[in-house]
Amino acid sequence: MYETVIAGGQVVTAGASFQADVAIRGERIVAVGLGLEGQRVIDALGCYVIPGAVDAHVHLQMWAGRYRSSDTFASGTVAAALGGTTTVIDFVEPEDEQAMIAALVARRCEADGQVAIDYALHMTIPAWHAEYALSEIPAVMDAGIYSFKLYQAYRRLRLDDARLYATLKALAHHGGLPILHSENGPVIDLLRAEAVRGNHTEPVWHARTRPAELEGQAVSAALGLARLAGSPLYIVHVSCAQALEAVVSAQERGQVVYAETCPQYLFLTEDELTGENGRLYICAPPLRTETDQALLWGAVERGHVQVISTDHCPFAAQEKVAEAVFAQVPGGLPSIEARLSLVHDSARRGLLTLNQWVARCCTQPAQLFRLPHKGDVAPGFDADLVVFDPERQVTLSSQWLHENVDWTPYEGISLGGWPRHVFSRGKWIVRHGEFHGPAGWGRFLFAG
Ligand code: MN
Repeated sequence: MYETVIAGGQVVTAGASFQADVAIRGERIVAVGLGLEGQRVIDALGCYVIPGAVDAHVHLQMWAGRYRSSDTFASGTVAAALGGTTTVIDFVEPEDEQAMIAALVARRCEADGQVAIDYALHMTIPAWHAEYALSEIPAVMDAGIYSFKLYQAYRRLRLDDARLYATLKALAHHGGLPILHSENGPVIDLLRAEAVRGNHTEPVWHARTRPAELEGQAVSAALGLARLAGSPLYIVHVSCAQALEAVVSAQERGQVVYAETCPQYLFLTEDELTGENGRLYICAPPLRTETDQALLWGAVERGHVQVISTDHCPFAAQEKVAEAVFAQVPGGLPSIEARLSLVHDSARRGLLTLNQWVARCCTQPAQLFRLPHKGDVAPGFDADLVVFDPERQVTLSSQWLHENVDWTPYEGISLGGWPRHVFSRGKWIVRHGEFHGPAGWGRFLFAG
């Protein structure tokens, strides 16, 4: 007799789908099989039982100039949980001259006791630290950080080729995983200044000044440097054919390269930028074309893209539309709550299998970011589980979603499938689609 049994569902993992009950004791899964008996039995008939989803790229309460992303660690993780995500990975962004470890402590103080689900952190290495403070990497890794965010764009953050190479080399030496925002920042800055000087202020200029060529070219350059440095490389938010081509050809040569994409590049196009509320859709890289979208889906399906995460970074509609010039608009879109169901809906429509859905949203991010005990339905793993009802029809709307933001790019979209129950380390935090978790239940995960 087990403590809790999720009974009668179809277990779907990255590798298999089968009818089974799942037994939980304390915080762990203790058995997966038929005919398990429990003191408490949760009916999963007609549902998929999948590992809790892992969102490897979120920006909660993050400062961007004078704006701050509107979801806090508390609100963002409740929204995530309601959408079936049981782990998020956010970022530490040290100031110049601030020790990375001090920035990590400060960020953990913001999150600990607030998060509804477990979380991990990536450490950003801005230009100043790449020049002066790479010696901090081992201490940061000892404190539970495995992945390091590098940038080729944005003035304070971006690494020139020499710093990028040196940083990749240092990470390879210490066994950390570099994750890279790959766009040619210096040329983009030039194009943006030119556009603004020419009075081109409309949001479509956001896309015109961050062309796909400059993403593809930056990815190619970075992959070359990673190969020379003997380092694996994970490219965040791959958005276009040019970047994808560089990733795939490196993978085919045997280089260890991982790619992530996000719902905005799979479901939206640059046409949104020319609409009435174009400013809302500003994010970087920018939204691309239908052709890029189709190629991305193919790469997701074939496994060239291993991870779908959100880059969730919400700003209130008023904050985005109030800025007259595209270059001043705070960049980022919300999607922390709907990601799992958006991708499931595409699986339903045949763009990928259910196993690929689980792999890209749950298992591969857990494995690549070395989150122990996450991302699978098997004895010994954390009881982070989603009972997902494929028949539940929902129509997305900012009124209905729980993200702390007054708009969603997916307003009015109807989806088949939504989480019914969610467990976080054995705790039944979402019941019949409602959040019942204790405040601050989530813990910091030591990765590595
Ligand atoms: Mn981001």
